[in-house]
Amino acid sequence: MTFDDEWAFATRAVRAGQQRTNEGEQGEPIFTTSSYVFGSAAEAAARFSGEAPGNIYSRFTNPTVRTFEQRLAALEGGEACVATASGMAAILATCLGLLKAGDHIVSSRSIFGTTSVLFTNFMAKFGVGTTFVPLADTTAWAAAMQPNTRLMFLETPSNPLGEIGDIAALAEIAHAHGALLAVDNVYATPVLQRPLAMGADIVIHSATKYIDGQGRALGGAVIGDAERVGKDVFGVVRTAGPSMAAFNAWVFLKGLETLNLRMRAHSAAALDLAQWLEAQPGVKRVYYPGLASHPQHALATRQLQGGFGGVLSFEVGEGREDAWEVIDSTRLMSITANLGDTKTTITHPATTTHGRLTAEQKLAAGIGENLIRVSVGLEDVADLKADLARGLGKDS
Ligand SMILES: *Cc1c(COP(=O)(O)O)cnc(C)c1O
Repeated sequence: MTFDDEWAFATRAVRAGQQRTNEGEQGEPIFTTSSYVFGSAAEAAARFSGEAPGNIYSRFTNPTVRTFEQRLAALEGGEACVATASGMAAILATCLGLLKAGDHIVSSRSIFGTTSVLFTNFMAKFGVGTTFVPLADTTAWAAAMQPNTRLMFLETPSNPLGEIGDIAALAEIAHAHGALLAVDNVYATPVLQRPLAMGADIVIHSATKYIDGQGRALGGAVIGDAERVGKDVFGVVRTAGPSMAAFNAWVFLKGLETLNLRMRAHSAAALDLAQWLEAQPGVKRVYYPGLASHPQHALATRQLQGGFGGVLSFEVGEGREDAWEVIDSTRLMSITANLGDTKTTITHPATTTHGRLTAEQKLAAGIGENLIRVSVGLEDVADLKADLARGLGKDS
């Protein structure tokens, strides 16, 4: 896309993809139409056959959705972007477009819970097996590769512990085995991390999180090259129909305009809060890749630019009761499993987002009963500290 080479990142976030109509509008219009009218029967035939460009039907051609796709592609540095109805629809469309029965996935075990369920309960039904490995253990990834491994899948930084996967090293392993590397870039967003430039083949988004950033709509996207994403993944969305609605695309493309500012503010506030938490007597351990105490801080500093994201976790006291007491003592933070919002959210992973794991799986994943996750919003950080101090004070 020429937009990439010509303009800086912040400019692309505001301008990429916009095509004004004859009305000369400053804001992007929302095309709430299911279908489009052709000038003649011959023109209809030419559009359907692909000889003439133009819109056909909003399951796969909608100008508002296209503006969002082009803007996000310009930010991730990809040739093609396909928008979907949700983040899960983006992952499903990627699997259906790129895999077939008999193929194998190697996935980080620290991924969004519903993604694990998609792999183990649904892809398995169609003959695609998955091996799960620890995100940060590059050797384990290499050892898990099979002759039929076609896809490697990860999220970095991981949720809730902020582990880092080495994208460049894992891309090399994938390519040496004839596989593709897909990175779910929800937590970093293209503001902080651009996986395609590090060798990844596919980037996946749940636009529901930071891209919207204000908790209003569900959506997703797949970004990559013109062949795999522009043809294979697009073909799934066109045919199976997990398409993004025009109104949601408009919400997300307006979200992209402020993403650059928001991600820097979320990251600065999260780092401030993480450093403050490390100094609190009631806190046992803080997990945030921006802290010098994080075991992969050096890799995180190389791989993330401009901040370490808005999600942090910390351990208090001995178990569930101590964690619940801190959570229930907050008056400002929202007790919800959602993240990536302007409003700070607080969660007990062991009984919510990771509640379906067995005790052994929780232990292996490092999800203790005394662990609390915070997705830091855009409130004043002093108010967030005061909100947590109330519950921590009772502990110490
Ligand atoms: C929320 C989320 C998803 C799924 O997105 P939906 O829009 O809820 O379908 C996928 N990956 C990550 C990392 C998420 O946080």
